[in-house]
Amino acid sequence: MASSSSFQELLEDLRRFFPSERLINDPLRLLAYGTDASFYRLIPKLVVKLETESEVIHLLQTLAPYGIPVTFRAAGTSLSGQSVTDSVLGLLAWGWKDCRIEDEGRTIVLQPGVIGGQANRMLAAYGRKIGPDPASIHSAMIGGIAANNASGMCCGTDQNSYRTLKSMRVVLADGSLLDTGSTESRDAFAESRPDLLEGLKRLSEQVRGNPELSELIHRKYKIKNTTGYSLNALLDFEDPIEILEHLMIGSEGTLGFIAEITYHTVPEPAFKSTAFLLFLNLVEACTTVAALRGKGVQAVELIDRTGLRSVENQPGTPESIRNLGDDACALLVECAAESKKERSLKQTEVEKVLVDCNLLEPADFRTDPKESDALWKLRKGLFPSVGSVRETGSTVVIEDVAVQIESLAELAGSLQQLFRKHGYEKAVIFGHALEGNLHFVFTPDFNLPEEVKRYESFMDEVCELVAGKLAGSLKAEHGTGRNMAPFVEKEWGREAYALMKKIKQLFDPEELLNPGVILNDNPRVHLENLKPLPEADPIIDKCIECGFCEVHCPSRDLSLSPRQRITAWRELKQLERNGNDDERAKKMALAYQYSGIETCATDGLCATSCPVGIDTGKLIKKLRMEGQSPWSRRQANWIADHLGGASKIARTGLAVAQLSRNILGIRTTTHLAKAAHGLSGGRIPRWSTDLPGAAPDLPPLQELPHPNSELLEVVYFPSCINRTFGPSPNPHDRPVPDVVLSVLRKSGCSISYPPKLNHLCCGMAFDSKGFKETGKRKLKELEEALEKATRSGEVPVLCDTSPCTHRMISELPAHLHVYDPVGFIYHFLLERLELQPLEETVLLHPVCSVKKLGLETQLLEIGRRCANKAVIPDDSGCCGFAGDRGITFPELNASALKGLREKVPEDCRKGYSSSRMCEVGLNRHSGITYQSIFSLLDAASR
Ligand SMILES: Cc1cc2nc3c(=O)[nH]c(=O)nc-3n(C[C@H](O)[C@H](O)[C@H](O)COP(=O)(O)OP(=O)(O)OC[C@H]3O[C@@H](n4cnc5c(N)ncnc54)[C@H](O)[C@@H]3O)c2cc1C
Ligand code: SF4
Ligand code: SF4
Repeated sequence: MASSSSFQELLEDLRRFFPSERLINDPLRLLAYGTDASFYRLIPKLVVKLETESEVIHLLQTLAPYGIPVTFRAAGTSLSGQSVTDSVLGLLAWGWKDCRIEDEGRTIVLQPGVIGGQANRMLAAYGRKIGPDPASIHSAMIGGIAANNASGMCCGTDQNSYRTLKSMRVVLADGSLLDTGSTESRDAFAESRPDLLEGLKRLSEQVRGNPELSELIHRKYKIKNTTGYSLNALLDFEDPIEILEHLMIGSEGTLGFIAEITYHTVPEPAFKSTAFLLFLNLVEACTTVAALRGKGVQAVELIDRTGLRSVENQPGTPESIRNLGDDACALLVECAAESKKERSLKQTEVEKVLVDCNLLEPADFRTDPKESDALWKLRKGLFPSVGSVRETGSTVVIEDVAVQIESLAELAGSLQQLFRKHGYEKAVIFGHALEGNLHFVFTPDFNLPEEVKRYESFMDEVCELVAGKLAGSLKAEHGTGRNMAPFVEKEWGREAYALMKKIKQLFDPEELLNPGVILNDNPRVHLENLKPLPEADPIIDKCIECGFCEVHCPSRDLSLSPRQRITAWRELKQLERNGNDDERAKKMALAYQYSGIETCATDGLCATSCPVGIDTGKLIKKLRMEGQSPWSRRQANWIADHLGGASKIARTGLAVAQLSRNILGIRTTTHLAKAAHGLSGGRIPRWSTDLPGAAPDLPPLQELPHPNSELLEVVYFPSCINRTFGPSPNPHDRPVPDVVLSVLRKSGCSISYPPKLNHLCCGMAFDSKGFKETGKRKLKELEEALEKATRSGEVPVLCDTSPCTHRMISELPAHLHVYDPVGFIYHFLLERLELQPLEETVLLHPVCSVKKLGLETQLLEIGRRCANKAVIPDDSGCCGFAGDRGITFPELNASALKGLREKVPEDCRKGYSSSRMCEVGLNRHSGITYQSIFSLLDAASR
C-alpha cells in the first residue's frame, strides 16, 4: 500500500486537472462515499468524482507512476465487497447518463451511469427491455450491471450482459481506449496494443487445445456463474477484440473501465399470468421446478418456510400460508407472452405439468397485473424484510449459489441441514429456482469474534457442498468480490485459476484496477474488514445500507445521500459511545452539520424507494430538533403564536425589497440584502432577484349559499406560503389565491375560508426545522378550524400547496376530507370546467408530496386536458428547494436540478407545479417559468 505522503502528492497532482470539489478527502465523506451494500468496510484514502471518459483516462495515467490503485463505483449496490477500497475510489458522479435507442428499440447505447430501470422505461415504448434484470434494477447502474454480469428472475443465462452485448467502449489500465463498435478504433487498438490482443489469442488457443478445460468451461456456464472471470469468452469467440469485450463482462472493475455499452434488447412480454404454488416440502417443490423447465414458464421463484413467515403479514400475501407446516414452501410461477392467446397456451402447458405434481392447493393463475405485482413484491422484498427484522447491531449476509437443476433439491435440503448444524435457524432460502440459483440470507453479529469463526466454518462447508459435491457456482449473479475470492480456485481448479491470473496479468500487470477483488491470495479475505452496523437511532437501525434510496435524493450529488447520512450517523454515534474525541471524530461531527443536517431537504422521498420504508429525513428533523437552542425555540413559538403578525412583517420585508428593486435597482438591492444576511449571522434569509414579492391581502369571499345549493361547497385553505409570497417578478404571474379562486368560481364552487385564517398554518415549516412540538400545536389549531369550517367533514378542504396538503392528509383525522391541488382538480374540477387545450407544450413538475400521494398520473391527465402536449421529465426528482431551504442553501436546489434545463422540450416555455417555493427553485434552473397548476387550468378554461 502506498504511503500517506504518496496520496498527498497524488492529490496535488490531481488538483491540477480536477475541480477541487470533486476530490474528496475529508473523513466524513471518505467513510460515507466508501460504503456499499456489502458487509465489508474499507475506507478510501481519496474519492474522485468522475464525469467524463477523458477524466477516467487522466486519472489512470496519473495513478500509474504512484502505483496507487483505483476502484470504480457505480450505484454501490454490490453485495460481495467488489466496490469498496482503501485506496482511490473513482465515483461515477454527475454525467454518464447518455442513452440512445437504435434500430427501432432492438439495440440501446448506454453510458455506465444510466440506471437499469431508466433504460427500460425508455425501451417500454418499443415493447422491449434490456436483458439483465437484477432485483436492484431501479438503483443499479449499467456500469455495475455489466461489470457484475448481474441477472435476475427472468434473464437466466441467455439474456445477461454477456449474451446481449453488442459492443463496448472501454478504457484500459494504461489509459488506452477501445471502441469495439468502431472499425477505426479496433484498427488503432490493434496497432497500439498488440501485446494484449496476441496474449488473449494465445490464451484462447490454449483453452481450445485443452479438451478437459474446454469441457469444464462449457459445463460451468450452463448454469448461472459469476465466480472468477468469464472464461467462456476464450471459447465463444476467436477475435481477440470480442474476447476482450466479453471478458470485461463480470470483471468487477478489475480489467478496465466500461465507458459505454451497446446491448441487444429483448422483448418485454405484455401479457403475464402468475401463480403462487404451495408444497409440503422443498423436495416436492424442487421436483416440480425440474418438471416445469422448458414448459412455457418465464420465471419460477422458490421461497422456503422461514421466508414465507417473514412476509405472511404483508398485504397481498395469500392467507393460506399462515397455516402451513414447518417444512412447507412456495413457488412463484410466471408465464409471459406477447399475446393473450400465447399466454393462455403457455399457461395450459404449465397446468398440465402441475396436474402430476403434489401441490397443497390447486394452481390459481392471476392475470391482473396488480395481483401479480403484489406477489412479486413479496418475493423481491424478502432480502430486505429479513434484514429489517434482524437484531440491531447484527449484519445481513446474502449468499448466492447455483447448481444444475437436477441437484436443486439436494442443494436446498443440504443448506437447511447446514443452517441447523451451524445455528443459523432463522436463515431464509429463496431464489431463481428455474436456474438452479438459490440465495440464502442470515444475520450474524460480527461484533463477536466467535460469530466470525462460526461464519467461517459455515462458509467452508457451503463451498465444499456447492463447488465440490454439487459442482455448482459459488456466485451465480452477485459477482465474486472479496467474499468468494478465496474460493475461486476451489470452484474452478488449478488450471482454470491460473488462466484467470494470466488474464489479470495481461490487462493490468501493475494491479492498478480493483486489486484483491475476484483474485486474492489471502485465504481469509472474506473474513476481514467486516462492516459494523452499530445501533444509532431507532428511525434508521433497520437500514441494510442497500443504497436503493439514493436515486431520488436531491442532495446526493451535493453532500450526502440517505444511505450515506445513515452510515455517517452510525459512525458518529459509535465514536460518541467509545468516548472518542480525536481530530477525526471532531472533523466528522462538524462536517455532518452541513452535509448531513443542513442540506437534507427532509422531503422523505428516500422512504419511497427504501425496501424497509426508512425516511432519513425524519432522522434529520430529529437531529435539527435536538440542535435547537432554547432561544430559537422561543423565537419559533413566538412566530407560531403571532403568525398573522409575522406574516405581515415578512410581507413588509418582501415589499421593501420589491420597492428597493424598483427604485435602487437589482444590483444595489442584492448587495444590501447580502449585507443584511451577513450582518444578521444568517438570520435574515438571503434575498435574490427571482424571489416573489409580497402577497396582497386575500380577496374577500361571498356568504356561503344554502347547503342545498347545486354549487360545490369547498373550504379553501391558502397556505401561509401563498399568504406571504406573492407573484414572481414575471409580469404575467398572479397571486396563487387569486388564480385558485378564479378557477373555483368558474367551476361553480361556493367557497369559504377557515375561521381565523391569518393565524393558521399546517406547522410543516416548524416541523422541518426541528420545532416538532410547535408544528404539532399549529396542526391542532388548523384541525379545530377545519372541524368548524367543514361542519365536521361535510365539506371538502382544498389546500393550494402540496407539501402542506401531504402533512394535513397524513396527520389530520380522515373525516376531514383534505385534498391536494392535483387530487382536487382531478376529482372535482376537470368535469365541471369547459376546457380548451392550449396550443403549447407544458412541463409538469410532480412535487415530492404529489409523488408520495401517488398523484403523478392525475397530474399528467390534468396537463393533457389543458394543453396539446404535457410532459413530466423522466427522473424528475425533488427540486431541493425544500420550503425556504433553497433561500439559505441555494446550492441544494442547484445541485438537485442540474440537468433540468436540457430536459425542457424546445417548444416549451411554461412549467406547472403545486408548490410556490418549488416553483421558485424550478424557475432558477429550467430556463422557463413555473406557475401553479391552477394557472394552467385558469388559462385553459372558459
Ligand atoms: C437488495 C439487493 C438486491 C439485489 N439483487 C440482485 C439481483 O437480483 N441480481 C444481481 O445480479 N445482483 C443483485 N444485487 C447486487 C447488485 O445490485 C448488482 O450486482 C448491480 O448490478 C450492481 O450495480 P451497481 O451500479 O450498484 O454497481 P457497483 O456496486 O457500484 O459496482 C459493481 C462492480 O462494478 C465495477 N464497476 C462499476 N462501474 C464500472 C465501470 N463503469 N467500469 C468498470 N467497472 C465498473 C465496480 O468496481 C464493482 O466491482 C442486489 C443488491 C441489493 C442490495
Ligand atoms: S435507508 Fe433503506 S434504501 Fe436506504 S440504504 Fe438503508 S435500507 Fe437501503
Ligand atoms: S429526506 Fe430527501 S434530502 Fe433528506 S435524505 Fe431523504 S431523499 Fe435525501
